[in-house]
Amino acid sequence: MRLQLVTGNAHKLQEFGSILRSLDCMLPLEGLDVEGVAECGVTYYQNAYRKARSGLLNILATGPNDSIVLADDSGLELPLFGNIPGVHSARFRYTGLPERAALAAFLSEHCVSSTPARFVCWIVAFLPQSRRCLACSGTVVGTVTPESRGPQGFGYDPLFTPNGYSLTFGEMDARLKDHISHRAQAVEALWCSLQGAIPLRP
Ligand code: IMP
Repeated sequence: MRLQLVTGNAHKLQEFGSILRSLDCMLPLEGLDVEGVAECGVTYYQNAYRKARSGLLNILATGPNDSIVLADDSGLELPLFGNIPGVHSARFRYTGLPERAALAAFLSEHCVSSTPARFVCWIVAFLPQSRRCLACSGTVVGTVTPESRGPQGFGYDPLFTPNGYSLTFGEMDARLKDHISHRAQAVEALWCSLQGAIPLRP
């Protein structure tokens, strides 16, 4: 039994691996880069489902599947601004700038020095030899500022400070982010559900 994570994002794969290890999950984890899955859902769940299903269909095209095939979809939400960029986080643009620079420019132009924010992650996992799929989510709340701080992580990490901490995700040791993040919470929920759903040990 192994886990195949549908993603082309090396950071996500690394985070999943480190979170699963911290949960004592011994299942091997591999990345599965599936080209051309349109993230056109209106919810994280829909996009995660589409990605995981595409991965499963790719695998089934080459033979029987004995892996748990999973995918996540995640984003950053600003509640005081209608939850933007939300499900569009990876494609958020402002004045021609991409993603993190776009959000920083948006905040600066609206004279926002700090605003509440949350990262949300949904994971969908297809179980082998069954018609079952599991869905789990996680959320971490904090604030974002227009100033980038820290070289770690990816995406909006240098702008986001989780509540109860003074460091941004970009400044934090990766192990701490992987302990408290939205992805950590979703993976932990998934791992708990998996242990009840499949015979993990002979
Ligand atoms: P996805 O690959 O469609 O899930 O895109 C998620 C997007 O949301 C990424 O491109 C990032 O911009 C943002 N995002 C999601 N999770 C994180 C995180 O843990 N740190 C920083 N940005 C994230």
